[in-house]
Amino acid sequence: MSRPDFRAEAAALRDPLIARRREIHQHPEIAFEEVRTAGIVARRLVELGLEVQTGVGRTGVVALLEGERPGPTVLLRADMDALPVQEENAVEYRSLTAGKMHACGHDGHTSILLAVAEMLTRHREEMAGRIKFVFQPAEEIGQGAAAMVADGVLNDPAPEVVLGLHLWNELPVGEVVLTPGAFMAGAERFRLRVEGKGTHGALPHQGHDPILAMGHIVTALQSIVSRNVPPLDTAVISAGRIAGGEAFNIIPQRVELLGTIRTFKRETRQQVVERLEALATHTARALGCTAALEAQTVALSVLNDAGVIGRLRGCFERVAPELRRHEAYRTMVSEDVSYLMEGRAGAYFFVGSANAARGLNYTHHHPRFDIDEDALVIGAGLLASAAAEWVMEEKI
Ligand SMILES: [Zn+2]
Ligand SMILES: [Zn+2]
Repeated sequence: MSRPDFRAEAAALRDPLIARRREIHQHPEIAFEEVRTAGIVARRLVELGLEVQTGVGRTGVVALLEGERPGPTVLLRADMDALPVQEENAVEYRSLTAGKMHACGHDGHTSILLAVAEMLTRHREEMAGRIKFVFQPAEEIGQGAAAMVADGVLNDPAPEVVLGLHLWNELPVGEVVLTPGAFMAGAERFRLRVEGKGTHGALPHQGHDPILAMGHIVTALQSIVSRNVPPLDTAVISAGRIAGGEAFNIIPQRVELLGTIRTFKRETRQQVVERLEALATHTARALGCTAALEAQTVALSVLNDAGVIGRLRGCFERVAPELRRHEAYRTMVSEDVSYLMEGRAGAYFFVGSANAARGLNYTHHHPRFDIDEDALVIGAGLLASAAAEWVMEEKI
């Protein structure tokens, strides 16, 4: 008996894959509010006869599928949260909740993993090992995976392998990304406060202007990537929000900047944070102000295990020879799946989901983000086939 043809089985599940994705799309729930979504997930997993745990990492759901014979444990992960974005698509399945939208594709991930659970459950008797299905909350704020880890998602049983995917609108449907090593950047969130001395806008000499100081700091911080980070390393520093001041004629007391740092290596991260702090404090001091920096890690970088990627490469070549595969593609976007993969063999891959001819190529987090739903079928077929690599022997 050879392995089941999960790509054909996924194709047969096309209608429920799309229906479930659209149902979740219409009812988006943001970080740690995924109560309705988790309910849909848990009910479906119970229907499949799986042992289900809810409330893992607040709103996460975990189900265990025990194979017929002993073997490795494979963790398959999907994230469930939406974003605080007002949807601008005019599709019939558009968000029914004002100000919230599945603008990253996590509705699709949830639907895909439910289909994978259905397919693998059908073949339980052919399985040697276990599958742990993990439906994670709050990926977008970088807290859901860590919350699930704190609640023991990596214990009893501990997974030998962690696998997951992201639908990816930067690439057309029919393409996949399977990159070994550093694949997605680690992310920090930082807050920089500059404190000056407020005064009348017409009497600047009586104060110390924190807006001027912040202006110099924002300009200077661009020197970190161009002048401090070794040119063959990679880093991004972006300012996302500046706030300060009340009126046109008042020099304020303080200004605050929020921003992000993206790096692949921990040492690069350390270097960037140290330089940022030094630039900010010295620049502020030169202009009569003080600066204080707080930096917090939101996601580690996603490091794909070369052995796991090699095995998936062989699998994808066999089951999906028609898909164009990228093996050197990397992105500065981050993913907190890194907390589930940390210190263990894992692979996270992208499934292209854009279709420019149909206008389905807005980027992630855009109010008009939408996917070519063929990607759901591709993703489900690939993820089930990938899991089978560890829990189903190839008998020819
Ligand atoms: Zn996102
Ligand atoms: Zn995402």
